[in-house]
Amino acid sequence: MNRFIRYLSRLSGLLALASLAQAAEAPADLVVVNAKVLTVDAAFSRAGAVAIRNGTFVAVGAEADIRQLVGPQTRTIDAGGRTVIPGLVEGHLHATGAARGDAQQPYRQLYSIGEIKDWVRERVREVGPGGWIQLPRTDVTRIKERRLPNKADLDEAAPNNPAVFTWQYANKIIQILNTTALKVTGITKDTETPAGGKIHLGPSGEPTGTIENASGLVNKFMPARGVTEEKYHDTLVQLLHNYNAIGITSIGERGANVAAFETYNKLKAQGRLTTRVTVTISINTDGTVEGAERVIKAIPFKTGDGDDWVKIGPLKLGVDGGILYATAHMREPYGPQSFSLYGISDPAYRGDLRISREQLKNIIRTGHRLGWQMSSHVTGDAGVDAVLEAVEAANADSPIAPRRYNIIHGYFPNPETAQKAARLGVGVDIQPMWYYKDGDALAEALGPKRLEHFIGLQTWRKGGVKVAINADHMQGLDPNTSLNPYNPFLAMQTAITRKTEGGQVFGPAEKVSREEALRMVTIDAAWFSFDEKKVGSIEVGKLADLAILTDDLMSCPEDKIKDIRSRLTIVGGKVVHEVK
Ligand SMILES: [Zn+2]
Repeated sequence: MNRFIRYLSRLSGLLALASLAQAAEAPADLVVVNAKVLTVDAAFSRAGAVAIRNGTFVAVGAEADIRQLVGPQTRTIDAGGRTVIPGLVEGHLHATGAARGDAQQPYRQLYSIGEIKDWVRERVREVGPGGWIQLPRTDVTRIKERRLPNKADLDEAAPNNPAVFTWQYANKIIQILNTTALKVTGITKDTETPAGGKIHLGPSGEPTGTIENASGLVNKFMPARGVTEEKYHDTLVQLLHNYNAIGITSIGERGANVAAFETYNKLKAQGRLTTRVTVTISINTDGTVEGAERVIKAIPFKTGDGDDWVKIGPLKLGVDGGILYATAHMREPYGPQSFSLYGISDPAYRGDLRISREQLKNIIRTGHRLGWQMSSHVTGDAGVDAVLEAVEAANADSPIAPRRYNIIHGYFPNPETAQKAARLGVGVDIQPMWYYKDGDALAEALGPKRLEHFIGLQTWRKGGVKVAINADHMQGLDPNTSLNPYNPFLAMQTAITRKTEGGQVFGPAEKVSREEALRMVTIDAAWFSFDEKKVGSIEVGKLADLAILTDDLMSCPEDKIKDIRSRLTIVGGKVVHEVK
């Protein structure tokens, strides 16, 4: 009897093996041959070809073996000896916001006060007499003169039209109005501002044109810049194609809402979705346990809901501001050197938390208890201290490492902080682009010493922390002139060279290797959304996302990495971008 059962089980085992072998032999839908495949598996091994069936990789290996899988219906793509990488995982961008914004008014990056004035003059001609001019976002660190435009600049370019420049990041909104805008809005030295708001007055006691955190006084006078759902969706689809053209196959919509999740699901249903999407949900609460519970329980989803195309990521809460705006919460004061860039004057000022440490604990513990993955926008080192303290408190309730808490930004790491984060299983999503675009200006304001570990990828990595690099793309549709530029090859080049746009290198010890850089935009980035077993490397059984590159990432000159593009991009076995 026993022998008979053993015989049966051996037989069924053999049958299973036979059907597996048959499955492997069935022709592929698509093969890529004559390629230098960087699989980004654990050993960083290379291969010559891959085969794809039903949207997944079914074979990775030598070309001769892969060619065995070519049948009459198989599409064969000859990579021409080029490098093939796993589809890039761009874990932090704001595609819905960028698409909606561009549908309303195409974004233009302006590099100097002169360019700003020229742009305003152009708009005056377009909108005609009396029409409002709303300037595109421009960060002070990216303006040649290192100052924002003032009322006189706007008056000169728009003497008869109301013009407003808005500079908004996290919880700080600065608006600069010209004389006509002050007139139209009726803002005078006597105007009452909302709590926390301020109207700047000059030596004469009259408004300078600058107002702070009082956008309600202005915005109601500006015509709504509506955009149809159709145009918004079309622009979003275009943007997703632009992402594909640079090798991106998965994106993280980092700080959105249920509506964004539904928009992506709509595109999926229409067959227009060409990247996988994880949607992070931003929350605002009063900071009490009950308040947090109310807000979180009202979200009809939970982390991981959805499918391989569109799914829900973590909750996100804003903890501090940004280093470009002197609103990052720092351990050390910003210091007198930084006063002119930031317009601050208190030598002890080091930025603030947006919520108290107690509130932070309440929210993180509540989200954790309710089964959510959590994340926080936190830039300064003191802000990260506060977040880790709260994560530790949640960890005391129940282990938090399996939830992979995400620190978003974390720009000033040190070894002790990194070790603590690693111990709690926290990952860091970080943007070399702020280093590349703003490093030169920040070195003037904060001193070069402080920039040595700014966006310190190796400090985090050596502490044992999982790191994802990405762009924080917010506006514009072009990979290199958008804000922030979302070209992942520029991000990799910056991580590898630590070169700013001006060519300076601060903290060469923070440089990473090409392999490390590639891991941080593929397999390591996939970890943040629990996708490392599905995407991020080219291995049998994984979703078939890849890009054939125009140049070899591993051997091209360092300063040419940023020029790499995708010749052909595949998502789920389908070609979504192809240079003919
Ligand atoms: Zn962001």
